[in-house]
Amino acid sequence: MIAEVIVDIMSSGVDRVFDYIIPEEQNVLIGDRVSVPFGSRQIDGFVINIKQSSNYDATKLKYIISKKDAQPLLTENMVRLCFYMKQKFFLRLADTIRLFLPPVVRNGKVKEKIINYIYLNSDDFGAISKKAKNQLKALLYLKEKGKQSQSELNKLFGISAINALLEKELVKIEEVKTSRIPKNKFSVTKKEIILNTQQSEAVDIISRSKYQPFLLHGVTGSGKTEVYINCIKNVLKKGKTAVMLVPEISLTPQMFARFRNAFGDTVAILHSSLSNGERFDEWNRLKSGEARIAIGARSCIFAPLENLGLIVIDEEHDNSYYSESNPRYHTHEVARYLAYLNDCPLILGSATPSIESYYLAKKGEYRLIQLTERANKKELPNIEIVDMLSEIHSGNTGIFSSRFLNELSTCIKNKKQAMIFINRRGFSSFLMCKECGYVPKCEDCDVSLVFHKEDDMLKCHYCNRRYRTLTTCPKCKSSSIRFGAVGTQRVVEELSKIFDVPIFRLDNDVNKNNYINILETFNQTSPSILVGTQMIAKGHDFNNVTLVGIVDADMSLYFSDYKAIERTFQLITQVSGRAGRSESEGKVVLQTYYPKHFVYRCSSNYDYGAFFKKELNLREVSHFPPFVNILRILVLGEDEKKVLNSLEKIYNEVKLLKEEYSSDFIYLHAMKCPKKRLQKNYRYQILLRIYKKNEYEIISKIYDICDKMKENKISIFVENDPQNLS
Ligand code: ADP
Ligand code: ZN
Ligand code: ZN
Repeated sequence: MIAEVIVDIMSSGVDRVFDYIIPEEQNVLIGDRVSVPFGSRQIDGFVINIKQSSNYDATKLKYIISKKDAQPLLTENMVRLCFYMKQKFFLRLADTIRLFLPPVVRNGKVKEKIINYIYLNSDDFGAISKKAKNQLKALLYLKEKGKQSQSELNKLFGISAINALLEKELVKIEEVKTSRIPKNKFSVTKKEIILNTQQSEAVDIISRSKYQPFLLHGVTGSGKTEVYINCIKNVLKKGKTAVMLVPEISLTPQMFARFRNAFGDTVAILHSSLSNGERFDEWNRLKSGEARIAIGARSCIFAPLENLGLIVIDEEHDNSYYSESNPRYHTHEVARYLAYLNDCPLILGSATPSIESYYLAKKGEYRLIQLTERANKKELPNIEIVDMLSEIHSGNTGIFSSRFLNELSTCIKNKKQAMIFINRRGFSSFLMCKECGYVPKCEDCDVSLVFHKEDDMLKCHYCNRRYRTLTTCPKCKSSSIRFGAVGTQRVVEELSKIFDVPIFRLDNDVNKNNYINILETFNQTSPSILVGTQMIAKGHDFNNVTLVGIVDADMSLYFSDYKAIERTFQLITQVSGRAGRSESEGKVVLQTYYPKHFVYRCSSNYDYGAFFKKELNLREVSHFPPFVNILRILVLGEDEKKVLNSLEKIYNEVKLLKEEYSSDFIYLHAMKCPKKRLQKNYRYQILLRIYKKNEYEIISKIYDICDKMKENKISIFVENDPQNLS
């Protein structure tokens, strides 16, 4: 028999299927990881098909050396998904396969956790001398209590005593495999919840459905998570499994605790702050079927589950569902194909669906389900818009409007909590020379360095390289160095001059473990203030927060991105959703220099429909998705000449394509990437925009062009509607 094998090797030249002979004595299956000869080396590969004969010269075919695992690592559906992703996103098969095998599983460094238990092997204690008191005590202890862990016994009676007993074979060791199941540091009280009519209708429709994407549009606090939980309960009843994706940032301990309350150890969590041992064990619990629900960020869609009955993508509008480094893919598309393969429903849930998803729902490709009320029947908080220009005219040039400061002191007087949101999309606290405009940049990456006050260092956020901070400008020798954008630290400093209450700060500089502690402490401290970036916008459920301040709402409008307005709307809605979640009413103060912008009117009225209409219209007249496709061909390499040469060849071919499809092309241009160099690679790109009409044909031709141009030491990626053009 012949096995078709994809070799696990990172060179674009070998991204195809190779045939190997299966040795008679070996039982090789589809999905198996095998060891194969490749050139002069021996490497890993994955069997993706088994057939009777090969089209290649049989005398040249080599034999599979060995099978690496007891069970196949990939299922047939996973193999199908790999081929789909290759064709859909222009990926290499070896890269897509790796998505299913997290490093802890692939590299074999993490082992199963074995605990040694000790049990009595004989009742005859006579062989022990009276002097060996500890040995006797240990034996009596074991006789009374039954088997005990070796480490515990060592602690109680001493290592030498236990070893002596082992030597005399009075006791024996039993090895027991145990799972390192992540513990939850947060507990939420179990509430008995009776679904309201809208919720239970949603659960019924979804639970009865076969393959179908649903867009679950529900205002913040409408009980979407309860809908997911109840749908998953129905899935388990049918003996099936479920995946639930959340943005990494909103996989809060609270969320996790809710799922643990509902499902116990049937839930496995795949989260970036797990230890390697925990990640390994959670993956294996899913693989073995011990756990049947996987919760995690984007990559959890590749969890080793069979027989899927439901896929949920929570906060579906979130950017993190686009993978922006190799392998680049869009999770919605992957999830949709996986749901199709399993003939099961897919739920995309959000209070602020992306324009694309809502558009697809309007066109009937997704089925729209709406939850229009908050589960606690409370009104959504009132959003007050404050015009910062008129603040300046009346003499206030500070960060905060007097309106906001008033609300804040009332909030504190009432012993409540406030959250202050600093909109920092695309902005960092960078240093700049006041005289000549010089901004320090990373030598390897050519991006602005970020100033970190704590350790007085400049850091590159792309490669983590550190630089000493500046006191004089290296270009003009001036010593007037100042900060760029307003940062969270600055806001905390200003506030602490005015208010004598605990002020907490959360941004990307806070490390992940601390992050939970800060939220927990904030949760238990009233009155208090939490200042933060995007991180505080999502998912948190604090009962005592009555005031939310949005300091500089316009920041995300300045970002040079066609989704800037959409993201502003989403941010405002998400942040506002933090206020007034329990008994007390909530209030939001939004500071802007453009109070008349429609995004503020629509978001303060919680009018998604009006926002969608207006924004969709803008997209249509300015030729942006969902009406067109934006494609980016990215060419990377360490040798700039080689990169340019490759870029030019691709560009010339795409130009011919443009002549062939002249009425489809809106735009075609080749350029340096804004980030010209990252981790030693020079970066160039070709950007093009095409109408939706012959897009599948054109995209597939572009893939063919890029496929032909593949060469050593050059990486070529093609992205469809990239979220980030840096
Ligand atoms: P969403 O995910 O839409 O933001 P959640 O599912 O987190 O909403 O629900 C918000 C709050 O309302 C939670 O505290 C939840 O326990 C509660 N809740 C949800 N549904 C109900 C219900 N039917 N009855 C009472 N409380 C509910
Ligand atoms: Zn200068
Ligand atoms: Zn760098």
